[in-house]
Amino acid sequence: MTSPFDFALRAAHTRHRSDRAGAPADYIPELANVAPDQFGLAIATTTGELYAVGDYTQTFTIQSVSKPFVYCLALELAGEETILARVGLEPSGDAFNSVVLDPATNRPFNPMVNAGAITIAGVLHQIAGAKAFDTMQARLSAAAGRPLVIDEAVYRSEVETGHRNRAIGHLLKNVGVLRGNVDEIVDLYFRQCSLRVTAEDLARMGATLANVGENPQTGETVFDIAAVRNTLAVMFTCGMYDHSGNWAVSVGIPAKSGVGGGVVGVVNRQLGISTFSPRVDEKGNSIRGLAAFAELSDELGLHAFDASNLGSAIAHTYL
Ligand code: GLN
Repeated sequence: MTSPFDFALRAAHTRHRSDRAGAPADYIPELANVAPDQFGLAIATTTGELYAVGDYTQTFTIQSVSKPFVYCLALELAGEETILARVGLEPSGDAFNSVVLDPATNRPFNPMVNAGAITIAGVLHQIAGAKAFDTMQARLSAAAGRPLVIDEAVYRSEVETGHRNRAIGHLLKNVGVLRGNVDEIVDLYFRQCSLRVTAEDLARMGATLANVGENPQTGETVFDIAAVRNTLAVMFTCGMYDHSGNWAVSVGIPAKSGVGGGVVGVVNRQLGISTFSPRVDEKGNSIRGLAAFAELSDELGLHAFDASNLGSAIAHTYL
């Protein structure tokens, strides 16, 4: 029997396969060299199953989809109090790369925009120094269940052109949010964004968060349970940048997008879900990703406030 997951994934893939709207991001020149029509969808459950369709084994750079995972790691290593003193928890309503801080606090609005993620990279740089990238790479690999490596061409391309992110770094240094060497910290952030993943990897990484930090396939404890809760909440309110409010209504799943064309979503205690399609809109979100997520959420009843979602306390106590 075909599972409802396979059925819904295939239907969403068929429906949106021929959509050619948008274009791959090109402000990092190497990103424009991807095959634009790749389209993969994947769901990984907390019981270790994978359901997938299309180009789900093709690699692409993780870009901003790395942000929640690195944030989760930093919460554990530095402690929530230290992190909150440096990065806020409010949606910015601005673009992901805006050179702006919360005027009331002089902190980045949240860890999902570049300013926040560069600050988080700075915290890890302060803790682990030259080993910071290895620490990130190891933890994200453990979340995916296989070793993730850097795409050197995309990394170099971002190093050559990433002046806006350097500007953000210097602004953060100016207000005292970043300590340490700005160039090294921004370089760490560029490496983080250049890790190659597949849609399957993202779904499995999402499943690790859904499974309160334990990778369902390998059984390895990857993330701290309290850090996961904080991370999912931030993904829900800020993960899709200035589209987060619309996303909360239409999809209702904590999620994170990246300009490489990936999107990951997490249904708490149930599954990780991901899409890969390189054509993005003006906000940097994958166009077919947005459409497929809305449809899959609807079809499978994944919305946090779906009528079929009974809630853990009530379900366990009364049903
Ligand atoms: N590396 C990209 C940047 O900093 C990530 C942005 C994104 O995926 N939205 O510009």
